[in-house]
Amino acid sequence: MRSARLFKSRWILSRALASSVLPKKTDIFIVGGGPAGLTLAAAIRTSPHLSGLNTTLVDAGDLKKTAQFYKNPPEGYSNRVISLTTQSKKFLEQRVGVQLLQDRLQAFDGLYVSDGCTDAQLELEKNSMGFMIEILNIQSSLLDRLSKLQAPTLNLIDQTKVLNIEYVDPADPQSWLKVSLSNGEVFETRLLVGCDGFNSPVRKFSKIESRGWFYNRFGVVANLKLDFPPFKVRGWQRFLPTGPIAHLPMPDDHATLVWSTTEPLSRLLLSIEPQQLTLLINAAFVLDDVDMQYYYKQLEQGTITTEELQEDIAHRTESKYAKLEDDSLIDEIYPPIVSEVEGSSRARFPLKLSHADSYITDRIALVGDAAHTTHPLAGQGLNLGQGDVESLVKALETASQRGLDLGSVLALEPYWAERYPYNNMLLGVVDKLHKIYSTDFGPIVAARSMGLKVLQRLQPIKNFMIQSVSGKVK
Ligand SMILES: Cc1cc2nc3c(=O)[nH]c(=O)nc-3n(C[C@H](O)[C@H](O)[C@H](O)COP(=O)(O)OP(=O)(O)OC[C@H]3O[C@@H](n4cnc5c(N)ncnc54)[C@H](O)[C@@H]3O)c2cc1C
Repeated sequence: MRSARLFKSRWILSRALASSVLPKKTDIFIVGGGPAGLTLAAAIRTSPHLSGLNTTLVDAGDLKKTAQFYKNPPEGYSNRVISLTTQSKKFLEQRVGVQLLQDRLQAFDGLYVSDGCTDAQLELEKNSMGFMIEILNIQSSLLDRLSKLQAPTLNLIDQTKVLNIEYVDPADPQSWLKVSLSNGEVFETRLLVGCDGFNSPVRKFSKIESRGWFYNRFGVVANLKLDFPPFKVRGWQRFLPTGPIAHLPMPDDHATLVWSTTEPLSRLLLSIEPQQLTLLINAAFVLDDVDMQYYYKQLEQGTITTEELQEDIAHRTESKYAKLEDDSLIDEIYPPIVSEVEGSSRARFPLKLSHADSYITDRIALVGDAAHTTHPLAGQGLNLGQGDVESLVKALETASQRGLDLGSVLALEPYWAERYPYNNMLLGVVDKLHKIYSTDFGPIVAARSMGLKVLQRLQPIKNFMIQSVSGKVK
């Protein structure tokens, strides 16, 4: 009730301001300085066909603080780490001219995927299949690139929110858009691009429907320290009935965790002692689900001490190792041992699927999470946004060369036509994977186990999957 009144009074204030302030004109107005928005701004600035356009980017967050990350990188890693495809990295470095902080990212040479309910596994191998990187590395490198481009036509505004959007002529949806900001400024723009994330105010204004659902699962992330740097640098993912756990390499003896799980379990993983979480992560890649359920229950009830947990896990793990034909298999099928979880790096994020019915309408385009969100099990969300930027810039370049109005549906259509089918296919595949693996129902487990075993022997399909992880499938 209070927030509705606050919103209404802000809206009235913004309308009053908008009518009294002289609007500034801009060709392209980008809402959002996340990875998608900053990549778009830099790609426009470095395009021979678009660099002369007046571009404005506004973000609610503190972009100056984000930029500091590049100039003065902290010693430890931040906890928002994602897997960047080779294709996205190439676009950032070669097309946009970004210099990522190389010593803070890690190439990985494969993925080892296993099923927590059966012994089925899938091994994908390729040198530099993808790169683990902090989102702050991407954002701050982009801000550094933008600062070096010395762009009089680029206006970056941070710590400022978009309060209101309306057509300059409310009766004409092809008229320019008027955007009112919380700092009192008002802009009139030819094209408005929503790179403003899942709750996108631009999408809401556009009235473009977005469909999907919450998975009723949370992604628990944390920074990990390993016993020793891995000799085989690859990602490890195990599908547990509660959701997949992934253990992905960062430089030297560092790694990152993405443990997708149920709401109660995600709360437990955030609340237990860091040492207990360390033990659970190591156990989750080796033991059966029934063992894990026992530990979750004991920890919830507070009926097990850290020492007892350690002893029990060690005992059950040893019995599991003893069943292997050969000791050397331990390093092949189980990830390197985690020695420490950085307690303060733990956080959880709700997981959801969403897809906008369209990415464009008169004078508006949606990019990145504003247009779609996906389960992180395939590590694709941010990469899809990079693909969107590449495609939108291509459409704008063509439109500019042909003398089209950049905000017209005619100019934007090729972007939506290229991206929607690919994104829709990927969101659908990831959604099905989540559903197939979030069960311990016998027939489904048998079918998926058979599927993984067959896949493991089919190199052409494995090559296709490797290309998907690298971002080379179009
Ligand atoms: C646990 C987890 C793991 C993931 N792992 C991966 C992975 O391995 N690989 C991968 O590719 N992706 C991954 N993702 C997805 C990835 O993090 C997102 O897809 C990506 O960060 C979205 O970027 P974006 O720029 O589209 O949106 P955002 O990062 O959400 O940026 C939106 C921006 O808009 C601004 N904004 C919003 N409203 C306003 C307003 N009214 N006024 C001004 N500014 C506004 C916000 O301040 C924000 O900066 C993962 C996600 C999760 C939750």
